[in-house]
Amino acid sequence: MVKLQKPEFVYMNGGLRSWNDAVLHIGCEAVTRGLSVFEGLKGYWGRDGCFRIVELRRHYERLQRSARLLHIPFDTSYDAYEGAIFQLAAALLGTERDMWFRTTLYVTEGHWGEGTAADLVVTAYHTEKEIPESIDIGVSTWRRSVDLALPARIKASTNYQVARLARIEGRPRGWSDMVLLNQEGRVAEATGACVLMVRDGTIYTPPATEGALESITLDLVESLASSLGVGFVRRPIDRTELLIADELALCGTLAEITLVRSVDGFTLPSNRITGAIQSKYFAIMRAEEAFGGVVLSAVHSTAATVREPISVSGSRG
Ligand code: PMP
Repeated sequence: MVKLQKPEFVYMNGGLRSWNDAVLHIGCEAVTRGLSVFEGLKGYWGRDGCFRIVELRRHYERLQRSARLLHIPFDTSYDAYEGAIFQLAAALLGTERDMWFRTTLYVTEGHWGEGTAADLVVTAYHTEKEIPESIDIGVSTWRRSVDLALPARIKASTNYQVARLARIEGRPRGWSDMVLLNQEGRVAEATGACVLMVRDGTIYTPPATEGALESITLDLVESLASSLGVGFVRRPIDRTELLIADELALCGTLAEITLVRSVDGFTLPSNRITGAIQSKYFAIMRAEEAFGGVVLSAVHSTAATVREPISVSGSRG
């Protein structure tokens, strides 16, 4: 998890601002109704000394979809979106740590959907380079909301209220993440990641229609599984299946591939397949291994300048 940080700069109102100047008015809908949609993106230092951001265009497109579903105007071009992230990366990057970027559309003007205007804000936080440790998780009593109320497909900040409640619930038991079930009691997703379950050598994950975000990392895991000759199936998952699974892992931009040691106190017997996926994932992110199934955009930065990005691989496959 990213530790709370106060970086020196934030991208807001079309340029870099100091952290202390990055404020919103209490009267805007971003504050009064928590009206904002966002994306979390990750950038990695490769072994070759190049810093690359993962699947920029796909994050931009998902932000567009979230905004469209909530009737939030988002007229920033892809190039401007990328430019804003690169500008902030150049200002804050240090070689000893990677970065996680949050690109948020805050609704700054309008009332109940009339006269809506939003500002694209980019914040960036340092993350350690280590592969995440295995974790213990639980199944929350809180439920994922339905598509007709707070749709999981929309990456709105308000969707994370239930994630917060679930984490608070699990913390006293030493559980660092929680699985949220949907209204039918089947697995939806974790608080900020999708669930990977292995049974009899195949990876299973719930489809987005079970109440999960349409995850970009999950698509990559699907390609990785295929390259390793491992089956990958999207189908509903019962709660009890988690408890008798051979392996469990969480996947997401920030969670990366995090192996699960236990769920609700049940110890998982293996991490053979999820461990192999994890190793391959990090080898690709660190540019130790080429892989056609992911697009990484290189940021050439010398503290204050950013040159043209280079796409280091082809399209998803
Ligand atoms: N579900 C939730 C609730 C999330 O916040 C995330 C992280 N964005 C994911 C799943 C994984 O999505 P992605 O792989 O696109 O980061």
